[in-house]
Amino acid sequence: MAIRVHDTLSRSIKPLVPREPGIPYRMYCCGPTVYGPAHIGNFRTFLIQDVLRRTLQMDGLEVRHVRNITDLDDKTIYRSQETGVPLHEFTEKWTHKFHDDCAALNLLPPHVEPSAVEHIPLQIAMVEKLIANGHAYKTSDGSVYFKIHTCHDYGKLSHLNLDALRTQETNSAGVANDADEYERESVSDFALWKARKPSDGPNFWPSPWGDGRPGWHIECSAMSTHYLGETFDLHGGGIDLCFPHHENEIAQAECATKEKGFAAHWFHTMHLMVDGAKMSKSLGNLYTLDDLRTRGATPMAVRYALISGHYRSQLNFTLKSLADAGAALSKIERAAERLLARCGLERADFAPLSIPEKNTTWGEFQGAWDMLLDDLNVPGALGRLFSALTKVNSPERTPAQARADLSGLGNLLYALGLVLFTGNPDENAGAEAEIPAEVAALGERRWAAKQARDFATADTLRIELGKLGWKSLDRKDGYVLERLED
Ligand code: AMP
Ligand code: ZN
Repeated sequence: MAIRVHDTLSRSIKPLVPREPGIPYRMYCCGPTVYGPAHIGNFRTFLIQDVLRRTLQMDGLEVRHVRNITDLDDKTIYRSQETGVPLHEFTEKWTHKFHDDCAALNLLPPHVEPSAVEHIPLQIAMVEKLIANGHAYKTSDGSVYFKIHTCHDYGKLSHLNLDALRTQETNSAGVANDADEYERESVSDFALWKARKPSDGPNFWPSPWGDGRPGWHIECSAMSTHYLGETFDLHGGGIDLCFPHHENEIAQAECATKEKGFAAHWFHTMHLMVDGAKMSKSLGNLYTLDDLRTRGATPMAVRYALISGHYRSQLNFTLKSLADAGAALSKIERAAERLLARCGLERADFAPLSIPEKNTTWGEFQGAWDMLLDDLNVPGALGRLFSALTKVNSPERTPAQARADLSGLGNLLYALGLVLFTGNPDENAGAEAEIPAEVAALGERRWAAKQARDFATADTLRIELGKLGWKSLDRKDGYVLERLED
């Protein structure tokens, strides 16, 4: 049975099958903007894409996965200038950090990871095609814009009604807008090439239209089609990218190739929220992997917590959910150890590191695997996994059944990317669990407010902590939460 997942373009659940038989399943995912450490929201999206890729592979498909590095946009340029570090050095540092975090979270590396700055000629070539096809125009300052009214189905991904938008006062369709990111209410002709500005500092490149740099959206259209072909199987990203980034990617690619279809399937991940709110530095609820590791969490527990919600629903992350993830992993480890013993094997023998053979056995874990095939239902699969774990260690299972169960468990964990016996999540989770989640979150927000020199907020949060019977002892580079004495 082929895996089926939701497609934003057709608004329906569709099977994932290669467009051309005999060639790999080709997927492109928008990668990180490397101007700081990735946060756990970014990792939710990358991890879900990783589970999708693993599930496709486990289902017998050969997959070709391309994920770009955005190292050339407003954010990377401005942040590198702010810190006084040359762009290349700056983005290289954050790309390395991203790779380290990915390895810790057991993300499979993409087959190609193209950098925007290393593919400028490719982007210029696509802009030239768009001008030649009548879809783009040059402005007097030497910038080039995409003329959205020449693209008859512009808006098809995010289901915009372009005619209605044209009549809205807030709409700036037909007006050139050089921002990389904007809201759907301000649909506009967007920049394909941005003429050099003093604020770009030394970051400009030559082009037929003068010195400047590519707009943000063009890198993904140019690099995805270069590495995967003009039409490929699936394109993924977080839901925030649907408009304008993905909409513009489609317009650029399809108008450059004279309407050959671009990605056949659009796979969007809903956002991760933290403590019920959108993540932001000012709220003090923005976590990186390092933040959670310093609090004692293992990367595997973080992985478990971030994949455990359905990709089509927002996931609310709390420190409690992280502690629960650690405890759940420990439970799986204990059951796996009993199963191994029944099969006369040891921990070291349980290393589902590679893709298992076709026609592998699933034993009691068949139901969990079916859940993954059905709209990548990870929470459903985890539910079935736990019910299977209670059955597999019953004395009635024959040795042959136990071996099938063990193979099924290994396969399932491979698809989820969960590696057992890599630490002791329970122990770490236990330390965390002693501090109630609400208290831990308050402590975190207070510390962030203090770091941001927002002493009024920090003080209010200190009082709230006190009401719950806790205080924060501040050190030079961190804090410790302690119970107030009676
Ligand atoms: P960026 O580094 O901002 O370019 O984002 C990298 C990926 O993370 C993109 O696919 C975004 O859509 C995704 N993303 C950003 N914020 C969140 C979030 N809070 N939850 C899930 N995915 C996110
Ligand atoms: Zn992209």
